[in-house]
Amino acid sequence: MPSIAFDALDYCADQTFAKARYRYDGDEVRGYVVERDGKEILRLGPGFRLLRVQHCGVCSTDLARHFLPFPLPQVIGHEVVAKDADGVRYVVEINASHAARGVAQDCPFCAAGLPTHCPQRVTLGIHDLPGGFGPWILAPVHACIRVPDAVPDSAAVLVEPFAAALHGVRTIAPKDGERIAVLGPRRLGMLAVAALAGVRRERVRVGGGFDVAALVRDPALLPLAREFGATEARLTTGADAPSPQSYDVVIDTTGNPDGLDLAVSFARREVHLKSTHGRPASSLRHLTELVVDELAIARFPLTEPAHNDAPWDRLRTGARPRVAWLAAAEPPAWLLARAEVMRGSAASIAARCDAIRDGLPRADVAVVDSAAGVDQAIRPREGREEALIRPRGDILVLPSADVGNSPLLCAVRDRGLRLSSSRCGEFEPALQLLASDPDLARIGDKLVTHRFGANELQAAFAVAKSRECIKAVVSQTTEEGS
Ligand SMILES: [Zn+2]
Ligand SMILES: [Zn+2]
Repeated sequence: MPSIAFDALDYCADQTFAKARYRYDGDEVRGYVVERDGKEILRLGPGFRLLRVQHCGVCSTDLARHFLPFPLPQVIGHEVVAKDADGVRYVVEINASHAARGVAQDCPFCAAGLPTHCPQRVTLGIHDLPGGFGPWILAPVHACIRVPDAVPDSAAVLVEPFAAALHGVRTIAPKDGERIAVLGPRRLGMLAVAALAGVRRERVRVGGGFDVAALVRDPALLPLAREFGATEARLTTGADAPSPQSYDVVIDTTGNPDGLDLAVSFARREVHLKSTHGRPASSLRHLTELVVDELAIARFPLTEPAHNDAPWDRLRTGARPRVAWLAAAEPPAWLLARAEVMRGSAASIAARCDAIRDGLPRADVAVVDSAAGVDQAIRPREGREEALIRPRGDILVLPSADVGNSPLLCAVRDRGLRLSSSRCGEFEPALQLLASDPDLARIGDKLVTHRFGANELQAAFAVAKSRECIKAVVSQTTEEGS
């Protein structure tokens, strides 16, 4: 494929769009150089394929993009349906990890089966890699997933958020008889309702099942939530509002810092955070980064845990979990006997972890006694987007912690609530579920309320932020490029 040049709209830090001239020079074997207005902005190694964008969904991450810690301007958009030169339809997983590019390199994260947490990654339409609101993308070869014929474009364009929703559902692992609620279902949240309903239908077929509740602020969304498969739909305020701790698990999809405290009040065993709004919430600065790293916050065990409780179960294989102890109190004797306890400031422990060569250069668990300690465990070093603990690791709050007035941390400390989080999901299982369930194959017809051409991004974003819009999709209508 020869080089290609095209015009695209950059998203800028002041939330406007500006036209820029892009050029991709290279090929799948040599890699690509990306130029903006004649200047090199990105050099990509081998393993990227040039695809022509068909459709790209607008999601809450796009609307909050200026809050995220990645450089702007950039062509954004990451919910992409694209075609190759032969007209084959693909959806594209967004993380350009070593694994996704199919390049053999020594990467502890890709080797540990955590390619979505690969530190080398750039991310389609979010971090450096030009996204799907432009006419052409460079997609990692193993991230291009063929769309089955049974899945129409209207559902395929929702695969990225649907896979993320399904991954969240798998993470909370609903038990039979439980009540699972989705708080604030709109864009991502309606897909969480749909994913829960799809998993519930599978479960009902084998004699189990759980309740799926949709908790909304806007009465207009009640019928839509039922259409997506909610067994219960109710308002979060007024006479019908749920009483405290009415649900076993609440998935917070509000995309709003205030949503978290509400989710905490409604949840018994777990709150699952799907919001990446980039703003502080519940007295914590780094909750978006917590979601990016798929970390969890839980209470430090009140008594010595059984040997098969994660993360202490690693002892059975001979590996000692690495515990970053950020609290002032002394660690209990059972912990010192069972784990490698690292003490000091979060930054100094992170520096020591850099030198780890056997496995991930991170601690497995952090133990904290304050809200500041939680933030330090998530981002121990200013200006470095690296957690103290490994992806999907736990931050444990001591029962004696002083957590100020953070409703989340009070609930963790006082009643053992768990906060979990998840980000991207795998596309293959999501596509299979969409292809096998006729109700789910039609989700696009129900969810997408507004469509725009590629030159209408400013209007698309204005409408996507409005109450009347649930999901907006931008389609490439003009033939561009040379
Ligand atoms: Zn998205
Ligand atoms: Zn990697």
